Amino acid sequence: MPKKKTLLDRFSDLTWNDFEKWAGGKILSRGKNYQRQGRVSDLAVTEDGRLIAWVAGSKRYATRVVMDDDGLPDSICSCPYTFDCKHGVAVVIADSMSVIVKALDRSSLDADDKLAWALDAVLEDQYGICETFAEYLHRRHPKSAWSVQANLLLGRLKKFKSGKNTDDFIRDYDRDRLSDWTIHALERAGRKNEVIRFCETEARKTGSYDRLVKRLIAVQRYKEAEQWIQEGIRATKEKLPGIAVGLRNRLLEIRTAEKNWPVVAAIQVDEFVRRPSVQAFKECRKSSGRAKAWQKVREHLLHFLKKGEPPWKQKGWPLPESGLDRPVVDRHNRFPLVKDLIDIAILEKNPNQVLRWYDQRPESRFGWHGVNEDAIATAVQAHAPDRAVAIWKNKAEQLIAQVKPSAYQDAAKYLRKAAEVMQRGKMGQAWEDYVKTLRTQHRRKRRLIEILDGMEGKPIVKKRS
Ligand SMILES: [Zn+2]
Repeated sequence: MPKKKTLLDRFSDLTWNDFEKWAGGKILSRGKNYQRQGRVSDLAVTEDGRLIAWVAGSKRYATRVVMDDDGLPDSICSCPYTFDCKHGVAVVIADSMSVIVKALDRSSLDADDKLAWALDAVLEDQYGICETFAEYLHRRHPKSAWSVQANLLLGRLKKFKSGKNTDDFIRDYDRDRLSDWTIHALERAGRKNEVIRFCETEARKTGSYDRLVKRLIAVQRYKEAEQWIQEGIRATKEKLPGIAVGLRNRLLEIRTAEKNWPVVAAIQVDEFVRRPSVQAFKECRKSSGRAKAWQKVREHLLHFLKKGEPPWKQKGWPLPESGLDRPVVDRHNRFPLVKDLIDIAILEKNPNQVLRWYDQRPESRFGWHGVNEDAIATAVQAHAPDRAVAIWKNKAEQLIAQVKPSAYQDAAKYLRKAAEVMQRGKMGQAWEDYVKTLRTQHRRKRRLIEILDGMEGKPIVKKRS
């Protein structure tokens, strides 16, 4: 009689095909996601060989799994689906992973083979569920075993063929993954001195400049870091601009560490010119303030937004060179950049400027989507209540014209704001007249009238009898 399979055997015998047969593709992939997101907790095996666990979904569900005689799991769950749901799948995957890792850890394999096995699992992982193995590889293992693996991985990299066929270097995530684990192995083997050399070679192959620069900064080899930043930007700015952005941020990091505020500010001004925004403006304000140059910088930035002339080309520019190539002004920009000028005026609590730029907004028969008009009305309501009210009324009327209940609800939101400002400005009568007009004009829109009734049910004006 064959030896009865243990629970461990039965779960580790499971294949992805079995899973698919059991749960179906859709539930399987959802279950994988759940497992990957770490939603399974308190996983335990009962005495009679069932798995029980809690799974966090839209609620917390209690899930129980048994291994059936057909070798497939059966799950029952407190969720509305009850049987063989994604929660059950997540529990089984979570369990099989930890079971396999435990089995590996206790197996008679020697330390080299254990590491090789786990590395294969993370490198071949098409399903992205091998965190359990990654976690295993972050535990303590003998230095010598790591050194053997490092050499094997270096050998694999030498023979590594990129899937894509091109002369240019291209982003190659598979290669980067392999080299990330190589670095991990070298570090664990106590061969840290090889890591930076290794990163240098890889940077030119895959564009992984940031990984190298990060390490150089960590050991305060700033000069070399800067050289690699410059090379990396040149190599990637056309084809892989995301990498260049990251590298410019690394230079910012170095200058910040050196507390070189004028250059920090100059780098941030570059970014502002590249992509103007109120957020970038705030960054410039912070660093230029530290460089005691904010007043001037601010003027030059605003002038740029109005006319499109780069700040450093204007007379009296107070900041030094950033040390990076000057950005090219986006030729799609239409100056003045009204949206940014309004955002900044709102930030600086300057209602006059808000209205000045609002009145210069580009005309379009499709309406103006550039800025948040509600934010504009809110920003000017104390200073120019009539303008705020006009904006809100206009928004409400546009929404009412859509003739649908959800739009009426949104319209009511703006009408309430208008009402509040009008009451405060002692324009209660004007408000009542306005509502009366709306009621007459839209008397056939029953849902709208109901909403208007509701608004008046909460008395905005307390009537005295
Ligand atoms: Zn469930």
